[in-house]
Amino acid sequence: MNEQQAVKEVVIVGGGTAGWISAALLVKMLGKSIKITLIESEEIGIVGVGEATIPPVIHFNEGLGINEAEFLKETHGSIKLGIQFENWGQQGDSYMHAFGNFGKDYPFCTFHHFWLKAKEQGLSDNIWDYSFNYQAAKLNHFTKLDTIPNVNLQGLVYAYHFDASLYASFLRRLCEKMGVKRIEGRIAQVETDPQTGNISMLKLQNDREITGDLFIDCSGMHALLIEKTLNTGYEDWSHWLPCDRAWAVPTERVDPITPYTRSIAHQAGWQWRIPLQHRTGNGLVFSSKYWSEEDAKAHLLANLDAPTLAEPRLIKFRTGRRLKQWNRNVVSIGLSSGFLEPLESTSIHLIQSGIIRLVKNFPHQGIKPEEVAEFNRQSQIEFEHIRDFIILHYKLTQRTDSKFWRDCQQMDIPERLAKKMDLFKATGKVYREQDELFSPIAWIQVMLGQGLSPEDFHPIVNALTPEQLQELLSYLKTIFVETAKKLPEHNEFLENFCGH
Ligand SMILES: Cc1cc2nc3c(=O)[nH]c(=O)nc-3n(C[C@H](O)[C@H](O)[C@H](O)COP(=O)(O)OP(=O)(O)OC[C@H]3O[C@@H](n4cnc5c(N)ncnc54)[C@H](O)[C@@H]3O)c2cc1C
Repeated sequence: MNEQQAVKEVVIVGGGTAGWISAALLVKMLGKSIKITLIESEEIGIVGVGEATIPPVIHFNEGLGINEAEFLKETHGSIKLGIQFENWGQQGDSYMHAFGNFGKDYPFCTFHHFWLKAKEQGLSDNIWDYSFNYQAAKLNHFTKLDTIPNVNLQGLVYAYHFDASLYASFLRRLCEKMGVKRIEGRIAQVETDPQTGNISMLKLQNDREITGDLFIDCSGMHALLIEKTLNTGYEDWSHWLPCDRAWAVPTERVDPITPYTRSIAHQAGWQWRIPLQHRTGNGLVFSSKYWSEEDAKAHLLANLDAPTLAEPRLIKFRTGRRLKQWNRNVVSIGLSSGFLEPLESTSIHLIQSGIIRLVKNFPHQGIKPEEVAEFNRQSQIEFEHIRDFIILHYKLTQRTDSKFWRDCQQMDIPERLAKKMDLFKATGKVYREQDELFSPIAWIQVMLGQGLSPEDFHPIVNALTPEQLQELLSYLKTIFVETAKKLPEHNEFLENFCGH
């Protein structure tokens, strides 16, 4: 294809979460001007994990016009108010990365500075006493609540847990209704144009040939177009994030269905627990350098809270990022574009923001190098910010019980992350860089939760006398605790909202 040729036909390779999310947004936004074909191979299958999300998923679904109750029903989904991290700082400790605000911000000064000053005055409460999401999560309570009535405080901020395979089927039905053409078959050969180097044709095993103007590589870790064909290159981040394997296993449903994910650190990795309506998703992410596959599997099986429903499945990965997410006439979305472990449930978000970025920069008049470069710059920054946030969890451990954790404590970290940690320690301040996914509140929770305490707080808090400060904190805490108590149980919410 000539690089200035209009893009009329888009071919998506892969029908996992990435493929169907990409198809759904493209057809919804540009379906009148482009033709979309998706090729997937049932024989190859999908990775079949990826069941916890973060709040922007709500807006993405709304943008697609998805009915929330129908979505939760079809994907057997549940609500997620945050992630509980256990054994990360020290063995036996626990904190939550709860979504939503803490307390009440003051002009130009976030709430945690008030809490820091109150601590200095002898307050024994922890910061999560001022998180409405945390209070509701610990009681297994939930309802849809934008604001707490009468007090102008933020309500519950949530995301979903869902079944990855049911999610892909749900999106497939939606896409096919909107006009996406699906082709079943295994791609056996990829041809490039000898003059431009662009992908020109895909040949299936049954000899069927498919051409297109723009190709979206959603082939997962196969990276069929972006790497196997275009040799784009990969930046390896395993020196910062050494986990390279995961065992995944479903177990029977446990009641109550908790409205949060759990992440439990073990000797050389961590275990996830994702509660759904019909089962619980579990897995152990670990480093094969420090833990054998068999020992890790045995450890996971010994730490489940219900009988298994299938044999554990091993998934191998290499943490890092494709050097260019968009190369020639191929845009990689999903696992083909890079891998960050699911510690903060960011992969599905990266799929959504990647395809939103493509829609915003859609090359309808032809692929322009300036646009490709800007797309790749934004994508790189996004990946790196998330990477740093994930590294923070490992770096900030105080565990000394295994070589894995000792090595994590001692590793060199990216300079930007080191500066962020130093600034917080010295001043209590955290700044959100432009377009950064995680807010200061997310960073603060992990830093405080894993024992990084600031030496100072902002002097704005001195505007309140010690008595006023005490009164404010006690008022806020009472509101959060008492409102959370009155909310319905999460199980009850699910039954009423989307019960089977
Ligand atoms: C252990 C683990 C846990 C995870 N947990 C989370 C989580 O909690 N939250 C989160 O947001 N993300 C999570 N993720 C990431 C998430 O699973 C993925 O981002 C998501 O599933 C997208 O995968 P994908 O569509 O890119 O790839 P896949 O699901 O692997 O799909 C690849 C598709 O390409 C097709 N394909 C490949 N080669 C060919 C070929 N030659 N011909 C035709 N078709 C082909 C396959 O058939 C398939 O349809 C996790 C990942 C792992 C490994």
